[in-house]
Amino acid sequence: MSETRRLHHLIGGERVTPASGAWFESTNPATGQVIYQAARGDARDVALAVASARSTFEDTRWRDLSPTRRGHLLRRLGDLIGEHSEDLARTETLDNGKLLREMRGQLASLPEYWYYYAGLADKVHGSVVPTSDHRVLNYTTREPLGVVGAITPWNSPLTLTTSKLAPALMAGNTVVVKPSEYTSASILRLAELAVEAGFPAGAVNVVTGFGAEAGQALVDHPDLAKISFTGSTATGARIASSAAARFIGSTLELGGKSPNIVFDDANVANAAMGVVAGIFAAAGQTCIAGSRVFAQRSVYDELLERVTQRAGSIRIGDPLDDATELGPLAFTDQRDKVASYVDLGRDEGARVLTGGRATDAGLGGCFYEPTVLVDVDNSMRVVREEIFGPVAAVMPFDDEDEVIRLANDTEYGLAAGVWTQNLSRAHRMAARLEAGTIWVNTYRAMSPMSPRQGFKSSGVGIEHGTETVKEYTRLKSVWINTSEDPVADPFVMRS
Ligand code: NAD
Repeated sequence: MSETRRLHHLIGGERVTPASGAWFESTNPATGQVIYQAARGDARDVALAVASARSTFEDTRWRDLSPTRRGHLLRRLGDLIGEHSEDLARTETLDNGKLLREMRGQLASLPEYWYYYAGLADKVHGSVVPTSDHRVLNYTTREPLGVVGAITPWNSPLTLTTSKLAPALMAGNTVVVKPSEYTSASILRLAELAVEAGFPAGAVNVVTGFGAEAGQALVDHPDLAKISFTGSTATGARIASSAAARFIGSTLELGGKSPNIVFDDANVANAAMGVVAGIFAAAGQTCIAGSRVFAQRSVYDELLERVTQRAGSIRIGDPLDDATELGPLAFTDQRDKVASYVDLGRDEGARVLTGGRATDAGLGGCFYEPTVLVDVDNSMRVVREEIFGPVAAVMPFDDEDEVIRLANDTEYGLAAGVWTQNLSRAHRMAARLEAGTIWVNTYRAMSPMSPRQGFKSSGVGIEHGTETVKEYTRLKSVWINTSEDPVADPFVMRS
């Protein structure tokens, strides 16, 4: 074990050994091999990181940096990510098993997130507010919050962390990131690149470790000004209540059980591809997975035939191989969770049309076959709960009203897909579906320019787009009396 690579925390631009002296292993899920050990952070490491972020926040070299210069730093970091994209893509593939070609695609667009916020940095400003007294000037300013805590999951670490880091830094905050314990490596590399780009050493700090230890300590730290979290709804609820008790804001991007709805006027061949993309891409390990598929009765058989046929021919294997279409689940417990949900579905009366088995794909890894469940309905746990794996539940429906009722009958509200050639229907559905993102005749589209927000138990707050400015700044209202007139009555001093 002594030869295994060790990854330290990155605090104040330095590699820092964990205060506990403890390390934990990270495993390549495609092979089961240990690939590195990471520092097992606890409250002491978090305290060091928050102190570093706090002192950088107060340092004039950061505080007085013009927004335009801050934008230059973001742009430079975007450039560096582009220069190191192959290495970063491989790092994530080895950690969480996502296809290398998918990761190359994500890395190709990742610099654009940084460029987008680089351009926004010097366009954040307040406004002058007209009040009833012309002698009083009332204006607003937008200030950074301070130290932001960012806690992220394992499924797309660089992209999901960038969604927090870029707007937080753009607005003049400093950040402590606690990445998922399954994917520490790429986030540590990102923080190193931030130092290389010229960010002050304590602007981006990373404490690795487990949620209950490092994560909880970060959430509970009294100097934190805001917590930005992406992960499961259960953890999000705990974090939200902890933040609320201390009156700090939280942005929460949580779970989903998104409907993907196919009408009989759709291009069914394209819709079938959209269904496959929605649930089998990334082995279903995406928050926006289209895990509930609704097909209008007259195209139900055709859609099912197409989806099942494509699902059955998906090439499972090494995520580094360009020919592979489905890589492993990110870790063994995740594979076991998927397997137990499919078993539960069988017990609940579901029929497994294709898939339904775990495999090691001949590589020693933790894979699960693309699985299609039928004979399911909204009363079953496999339809109600997030599985976070390659498992689609397919159900028929008769008309718009019925499918709206079925699709909205969920605690989640992250995303929804609609497949139709009828323009009016597309708009009606977009208006009536209770989800923060609606895709019509496409699925999984994403851009730094397009805001996204989870409805219901899928989250609170916005990521991406200009609305994000409000998530990472606070508004101050300044009143200036320009009049030298004597104050006549101190008991009614108002405008
Ligand atoms: P998770 O909630 O188990 O963990 C997420 C992060 O929180 C990890 O870094 C973990 O260490 C940390 N954490 C766990 N317990 C904590 C605690 N008590 N205090 C502080 N931090 C704690 O989620 P996961 O399994 O890593 O990720 C999968 C989930 O994330 C799914 O539910 C998925 O839908 C969701 N997700 C949502 C989005 C979105 O944008 N809405 C995107 C990706 C993933």
